[in-house]
Amino acid sequence: MRHGSERTNPATVPTLPPSPAPSSTSLPRGSRGSRTRAFRALSEEIRGCTLCPLAQGRTQAVVYRGSLRPNVVFVGEAPGAEEDRQGIPFVGRSGRLLDRAIADLGPALGEYGVLNVIKCRPPRNRFDPRAARACRPYLDRQLDLLRPRVLVPLGARAWTALAPRAPPILQAAGSPRPGPDAWLFPLIHPAAALRSRRWHERWDRDVLALGGWLAQAGCNAITRPRLERT
Ligand code: URA
Repeated sequence: MRHGSERTNPATVPTLPPSPAPSSTSLPRGSRGSRTRAFRALSEEIRGCTLCPLAQGRTQAVVYRGSLRPNVVFVGEAPGAEEDRQGIPFVGRSGRLLDRAIADLGPALGEYGVLNVIKCRPPRNRFDPRAARACRPYLDRQLDLLRPRVLVPLGARAWTALAPRAPPILQAAGSPRPGPDAWLFPLIHPAAALRSRRWHERWDRDVLALGGWLAQAGCNAITRPRLERT
């Protein structure tokens, strides 16, 4: 399944979409247990990946952190130095800002996960389109197995990867739009928010909007196991 959106941006969205249809291309038809096993196997596959030259420069691939049945998945660009060292996405400065936002979102967020479009650290932290293409099947398979209801692309690169024909990030950030498999609620990248007061204010405003939308949409309610998709 390709996770992208070409649709227009609704002003407000009162409810979350129904569960995405099971994928015809991957493994999520199985029980939650088999999806968990498949996700773990996929994570191992990513850790061993040598599909592009970034494999040579990495300490380790950076796969995922969070719940294996998330309502919401935050999608970053690529690991930085600290992520490369620890093997965990968003554990550096940007990660601390993201974690503060996650704490502020509170119970409205429910279970969540964090991953990147590119799984290995690019040299000088420059976005590498070739690596993004090589990693793309991993991203799609991760999202197929995790089946989040909401994707939160962080910054222009993740936004473009998930919604290639949508308006630019600065226009789109801070409001929801329906995607084929999940809602998309883009935010500017936390690293941009750390660069200036102006972008920090934008980040704060958009995180607040995300929290308001999640609370209104009742995202937390779908974390109850009996309502969980299998
Ligand atoms: N920036 C990202 O996009 N991802 C990370 O994991 C860290 C910083």
